[in-house]
Amino acid sequence: MPRTKETTLELDLAALEHNYNYIRTKIHPSTMFLAVVKAFAYGTDSVIIAKKLEKLRVDYMAVAYAHEGKVLREAGIKTPILVLHAQPSNYTMVIKYCLEPSLYSPRTLREFIKTAKTQKQKDYPVHLKFNTGLNRLGFWENDINYIADQLVDREELKIKSIFSHLAASEDKSEEEFSKNQIKSFEKIAEEFTSLLKISPFMHILNTSGIFNYPEAQFQMVRSGIGLYGYGNEARYDAKLLPVATLKTIISQIHNIEPNESVGYNRAFTAEVYKKTATLPLGHADGIGRQYGNGKASVLVNGKEAPIIGNVCMDMIMIDITGIECKEGDEVIVFGKGHSAEAFAAGAKTISYEILSAISQRVKRVITGA
Ligand SMILES: *Cc1c(COP(=O)(O)O)cnc(C)c1O
Repeated sequence: MPRTKETTLELDLAALEHNYNYIRTKIHPSTMFLAVVKAFAYGTDSVIIAKKLEKLRVDYMAVAYAHEGKVLREAGIKTPILVLHAQPSNYTMVIKYCLEPSLYSPRTLREFIKTAKTQKQKDYPVHLKFNTGLNRLGFWENDINYIADQLVDREELKIKSIFSHLAASEDKSEEEFSKNQIKSFEKIAEEFTSLLKISPFMHILNTSGIFNYPEAQFQMVRSGIGLYGYGNEARYDAKLLPVATLKTIISQIHNIEPNESVGYNRAFTAEVYKKTATLPLGHADGIGRQYGNGKASVLVNGKEAPIIGNVCMDMIMIDITGIECKEGDEVIVFGKGHSAEAFAAGAKTISYEILSAISQRVKRVITGA
């Protein structure tokens, strides 16, 4: 890869393939694999990533909202797409683009039935989400009778799967809670099957669930963060490869005398002589203000350089005192060689947030195709 000449987010498709193959080794060959590509495929590029995943023959993809699924269909993606959190106002779009909604409450079930009826649908594939402890979205166990009543002699819908979501799959201290969620899910599935006389397929595991509770893989698993190279645990991070690497360059270097300040509101003041570099990357690109004032560091020619002062809209300043470098040199913000998890941890957040924050202004460049 030639050195970058501007801020770019490099997307390594060979790393994506490696991660997919690695996660697959954790599950049974016959278990279906749903790749989560919501939020621009965790801040990368949903179309580029979905095309690669389709080549890898994932069984399903998932997005959060209907518009995200529409973009994929318009780009020619044919794989079934589960929409995790479609709003009833978009159900017409869901049907128009052959997206499969998650229905998670009596209201969403009623509304989808209404739309499917108006659109004269038969056996339209939907997925029912049950709440087993996350208490975010989902039917409760005691909604099963209501669901059964709604579905009696109902031709419009076909329940393809029932699913749930773990609240703390990456947290070993919550193992008992997670196992109880899995048990409740099994109980719900049994009741559902015996009452409705149908056997939809089942899924509950996200990336950390796959690593920590493979016995609960049922017929499908749903992986997001792992595909992008992060496993919420050092031993899995070590097996995965970052797909996204955010690179930028040094625009200008300054020599700062003691008592001089750097940046807005003079948030950084040099106590001793400092050399600083200004980079073309700011909060409008996704580097929030929480990364400023020494909380996170970037890599300059292999050396860690902390972000100093306040993050600006289009710029950050870093301390390069003692680092050999010149204007125009490449800087790695996070990714290969400088984990997004570590970058995020400095600002007390997680890989998911920094990855999905990288704005559309940053040019995407594909490698490893
Ligand atoms: C985002 C999401 C996932 C993916 O989780 P990862 O931890 O990124 O693997 C899976 N299931 C649901 C319901 C989600 O919202």
